[in-house]
Amino acid sequence: MSRITPLVRPNIAALAPYSTARDEYDGPIGIFLDANESPYENGFNRYPDPHQAALKAKIAPLKGIPVENLFLGNGSDEAIDLIFRIFCKPGKDNAVIISPSYGMYGVAAAINDVAVHSVRLEADFSLDSRKLADACDDWTKVIFLCSPNNPSGNAFPKEQLLDICDRFPGIVVIDEAYVDFSEQGSLAAEAVARENLVVLQTLSKARAMAGLRVGMAISSVETIQLMSQVKYPYNLSRAAMEKALILIENKIDNQVYTIINERKRLSEILPCFPFVRKVFPSDANFILVRVDDADALYDYLLKESIIVRNRTRVPGCEGCLRLTVGLPAENEALLNALENYAL
Ligand SMILES: *Cc1c(COP(=O)(O)O)cnc(C)c1O
Repeated sequence: MSRITPLVRPNIAALAPYSTARDEYDGPIGIFLDANESPYENGFNRYPDPHQAALKAKIAPLKGIPVENLFLGNGSDEAIDLIFRIFCKPGKDNAVIISPSYGMYGVAAAINDVAVHSVRLEADFSLDSRKLADACDDWTKVIFLCSPNNPSGNAFPKEQLLDICDRFPGIVVIDEAYVDFSEQGSLAAEAVARENLVVLQTLSKARAMAGLRVGMAISSVETIQLMSQVKYPYNLSRAAMEKALILIENKIDNQVYTIINERKRLSEILPCFPFVRKVFPSDANFILVRVDDADALYDYLLKESIIVRNRTRVPGCEGCLRLTVGLPAENEALLNALENYAL
């Protein structure tokens, strides 16, 4: 028996997945009278491939992993929800998350009636593995980590993440939405090799396709099969997959390079403003900045039509704004506005 099997909810383990018409016959040509579709062709009258074979065949080699270890979802948010549904018994099991971090882990937990134990990061947003271990109990099924972390921007050391995986008997999820901006690199290959590790990535950030809603999970074949069984059969639309197949061909190296350069430039200039108290180091495409009066600066920038994310009411982020790195000209406009604010 694998390490995963005893972690799966019994109702999920016993599931007989819905078999779609396209599961039973997926040949390219023929007279399709099997799925109650309209026979009038308009490009979208047919259901999309529930196995997303074409898109997976493009993405898997990009990530350096076998297709069997790749799940595609309607954003990474779908993968987060599926992990709760597959592994956590509502009202009984719990998940451990870090704070501050991405809000969806807590929201998806609440929707699934799964309790959450939250571990506060240190003042510099590093993670104390001892505190994480202390937050786990016999009912903890999943640990959610985010690296580079949103909203703090820092990546946790690879060795620390793998050490947590080695010690924890349940599932460890590492959300790598911002991995393309980090020098640390991905744990995707580790997720193929380790049964209990799930790595989340997305086309939404560096790949510039947030509007298409394509996220992914990389994990053991067993976990990927479970996710594929529990997902809605047609979770990715034909429109999203067709467009993603085209846009995935775009080389993003130059864009990522420019954003990292701009991140460095902003990180050097921002501390010079008298109202800036701290610029936190970032491995992502955003910078968390602590200022004298976050609400006032947020309102001022809004008046200047510059919209940033006010995180001052997030515990651990008091006084902080999160600034996404934009185009060089956009960042210049931000710096100009900040100069005028200082006056
Ligand atoms: C933006 C973001 C995602 C991406 O979510 P999608 O649903 O794929 O758009 C995932 N995790 C974190 C931490 C994020 O900040």
